[in-house]
Amino acid sequence: MTGDLFTRRDAVIMATYGRPPIVLTGGSGTRVWDADGREYLDLLAGIAVSALGHAHPNVVRAVGAQLGQLGHVSNLYVNEPQVLLAERLVELLGLDARIFFCNSGAEANETALKIARRTGRPEIVAAEGSFHGRTLGALSITGQPAKRAPFEPLLPGVRFVPYGDAAAMRRTVGEQTSAVFLEPTLGEAGVVPPPPGYLAEVRRICDETGALLVLDEVQSGIGRTGAWFAHQTVGVRPDVVTLAKGLGGGLPIGACLGIGPAGQLLRPGDHGTTFGGGPVVCAAALAVLDTIVELGLLDSVRTVGARLGDGILAAAAPGVAGVRGAGLWRAIELTGNHAAAFEKAARGAGFLVNAVTPDAIRLAPPLILSADDVDTFLRALPAIAATAGAATETPKVSA
Ligand SMILES: *Cc1c(COP(=O)(O)O)cnc(C)c1O
Repeated sequence: MTGDLFTRRDAVIMATYGRPPIVLTGGSGTRVWDADGREYLDLLAGIAVSALGHAHPNVVRAVGAQLGQLGHVSNLYVNEPQVLLAERLVELLGLDARIFFCNSGAEANETALKIARRTGRPEIVAAEGSFHGRTLGALSITGQPAKRAPFEPLLPGVRFVPYGDAAAMRRTVGEQTSAVFLEPTLGEAGVVPPPPGYLAEVRRICDETGALLVLDEVQSGIGRTGAWFAHQTVGVRPDVVTLAKGLGGGLPIGACLGIGPAGQLLRPGDHGTTFGGGPVVCAAALAVLDTIVELGLLDSVRTVGARLGDGILAAAAPGVAGVRGAGLWRAIELTGNHAAAFEKAARGAGFLVNAVTPDAIRLAPPLILSADDVDTFLRALPAIAATAGAATETPKVSA
């Protein structure tokens, strides 16, 4: 049955993704299971998305109730869940802000790009290795040449600087710069944090030149690092924040938060979306935020995340060089390019992880991950690492 689905998939789905040979059919909490009835501990959460895990009753209830009451009205009408969600996000941000809701991370960054254009300045600065999404605008500020090259020409006026290099930023940002786009930690490049003080220095450079600081918190936001927003952990005030992934607890929602004057640069008629900020996804997001508070998940992310990070180091597993990241957002650093083999070995042992780069494994589990879940993974880690290492060992060739 599973094999059949793969053949049918190849006939009707565009071949943009390579996918492992399993079909996930159900989930509950931190666990998912496949069509053959095998269970997995989900250490990826649909790429940092399913903040409350799978089928959380609060999300199921909120979505069902809202859909039963009023599912969609478009942005031609005001809807209360959207306003409530915006009020909550502004409160969590702790800054005066106005929000545009959309459906994805890429769209949130598209909104930020249009805000940048409205400054009247022609240039944008972004980081090498960054990821901001796959739409043409978001791709234009994504610092990964292989993803960009087939789709050029992209937006003009984008300049890239090495991530974490404040001196390069200072040399590049000037009076022509509308905005600096940065992830607080590189996500798709493998959970790579910048050197201490980097974001604060970029903030100063933006203040001196009048450029907007746009922080892409699509992956880092909504509790992932143990704070509501990653920038709060380093005390840096952005001008624009973009969100998506974890916000909707699995439902598609994105948000662009314009802080202070940046929240008023887009004028009537400048931007729009049919689905964005619909009552159902906003009700889901409100349930996510309420439940994070109710369950004390920010504290839990910090303690359980530390247990995970420390435990990976202490395991001293073969082929594992270290760990980076914060909270429940980690990369296991490998000694070589055996991440694909590691991901496969982990799956074989009942764990979903992500070979984010050839030499790093990303963990971005549900924020409800328990200490027991962590220990289950840590017990299995040495054997997974050994299998992955053995799978990639170069066979000896006798002369
Ligand atoms: C995933 C991601 C995006 C793109 O989000 P989509 O919802 O896939 O469009 C943008 N920025 C960052 C930092 C991301 O991790």
